[in-house]
Amino acid sequence: MKIKFMGAARTVTGSCYILETQGHRLAIDCGMHQGSPEIEKRNWDVDIYEPRKIEFFLITHAHIDHCGLLPRFVQKGFQGRIYTTPPTRDLLEIMLLDSAHIQEMEAQWKSKRNLRHGEKHTQPLYTQEDVRAAFPLFEIKAYNAPFEPWPGLKVNFKDAGHILGASIVELWIAEDRFQSKLVFSGDVGRPAQLLVEDASPIRAADFLFLESTYGDRDHKNEEDSLNELAEAIAYSYARGEKVIIPAFAVERTQEVIYSLHLLAKEGRLPADMPVFLDSPLAIRATEIFRHYTEYFDEAAKRLFQKGEDPLSLPQLRFTETTEESMAINRISGPAIVISASGMADAGRIRHHLRHNLWREGASIVFVGFQAQGTTGRKIVDGMERVRLFHEDIAVKARIFTINGFSAHAGQTQIIEWLGHFQSPHLQIFLVHGEFSAQQALADLIQHRFGFKVVIPDYLEEATLQAGEELKRAAYPEKAAPPVDWLSLLAETESKMAALRGRKSRLESKPWLEQTELKDRILELNRSLNEILSELGRSAPGR
Ligand SMILES: [Zn+2]
Ligand SMILES: [Zn+2]
Repeated sequence: MKIKFMGAARTVTGSCYILETQGHRLAIDCGMHQGSPEIEKRNWDVDIYEPRKIEFFLITHAHIDHCGLLPRFVQKGFQGRIYTTPPTRDLLEIMLLDSAHIQEMEAQWKSKRNLRHGEKHTQPLYTQEDVRAAFPLFEIKAYNAPFEPWPGLKVNFKDAGHILGASIVELWIAEDRFQSKLVFSGDVGRPAQLLVEDASPIRAADFLFLESTYGDRDHKNEEDSLNELAEAIAYSYARGEKVIIPAFAVERTQEVIYSLHLLAKEGRLPADMPVFLDSPLAIRATEIFRHYTEYFDEAAKRLFQKGEDPLSLPQLRFTETTEESMAINRISGPAIVISASGMADAGRIRHHLRHNLWREGASIVFVGFQAQGTTGRKIVDGMERVRLFHEDIAVKARIFTINGFSAHAGQTQIIEWLGHFQSPHLQIFLVHGEFSAQQALADLIQHRFGFKVVIPDYLEEATLQAGEELKRAAYPEKAAPPVDWLSLLAETESKMAALRGRKSRLESKPWLEQTELKDRILELNRSLNEILSELGRSAPGR
């Protein structure tokens, strides 16, 4: 059998594997590629996945980086089944509709701009129509209830402890006379999360496809994280400013509300500090959580049985409409605003950042992973200004990065989960991580367990046969076409020279026009400075 790595290879987003065996083709996950424009271009090129030839999908969970391309596949002719757990199916419906809405809005905005420049209309990546066409293809399967999509292929979903309904996929394939077991970790949850169970232990596999988001570091503990959140609240409350929390609509938001609920019980959340949940998606996701309390861990279940609702607060207000959302920014005085998206790349959070980033006394609290190239990552990395709505906004608010709320296992926790495997010949493929984090984790795994570890690249193919040497084929030219730095820099230089040659023409312009041109060149200088300072940094920041 052969496996192809279609995303989340040496990067965090775009999770998707295509597995080919005995003339059949199936896929595990189909995440959206997120981050830099170069990475996002991959979303448009789904023909390389050959959607019509995929017989079915197994979806690990409802995060967009694991399911966000499903409607695009349906649009391109995929007609098979989509297997997933009941909560994931419900969450997928709202997540994908929301994603389509964002795609439609973006295309509309780009079309307007293009028309002004005399260019063509822009089509959205997919529409809400495409999403609805995917709904009838869903087929739900419970945890620990193995099923056989084809004779000789058995699938089982196990609790990944990551978000509501998230799965680890176990797959048994009989090929010729051999049986192999493949395990796809999906995203492995951080143990001791407030709502969901811990990740299920697995003892045997021939091949393991393991996430490595936090492969090079541990999280702070839960207690420290709660204290840090309380510190942000106290800091901004005392200064009459807002606490802005960019959060993913699913799980992070509910865990943050739960944490605020705990702080309120301890008297560490001022009763007169309103909390806004400003994300229609998060509001709907919270309803789905309430519907599936049987999927929670014991502690959360007990609270619900006692009649205590950890997903509510007396001062919690839901803002559904755009008007209500905009009104938050007209309210003076302290408040907490939880809004999506979690990496501040889309959605209402960008408005709240525009209104608060520059305010001394405000706090911005990041509770999830910030991928390279995103606005969230730029703020976490300490940029002094970030671009929002075509404006450079100064960063004066206090920035908190509280990774103890992460939905992902930290390095030590991944190692602990791996410790359950008792297959000496286990072959591990590290996915869903930045390369440096993956290398650190690979070294640690080899040292600790002696398992074989590889870090596949984008579009790489591996031929799997239990007990045999792994055969790998990479396509670096397709996966990462080289940047022609020499000609790019030469072109920039020649433009500068041409500009110098026109100095007298610049000087002959009316004064106001000269100042405008000056500003544009200063803007250019600013970008060049940013690039230079990024290159000058000794180690990449977080
Ligand atoms: Zn996830
Ligand atoms: Zn993920």
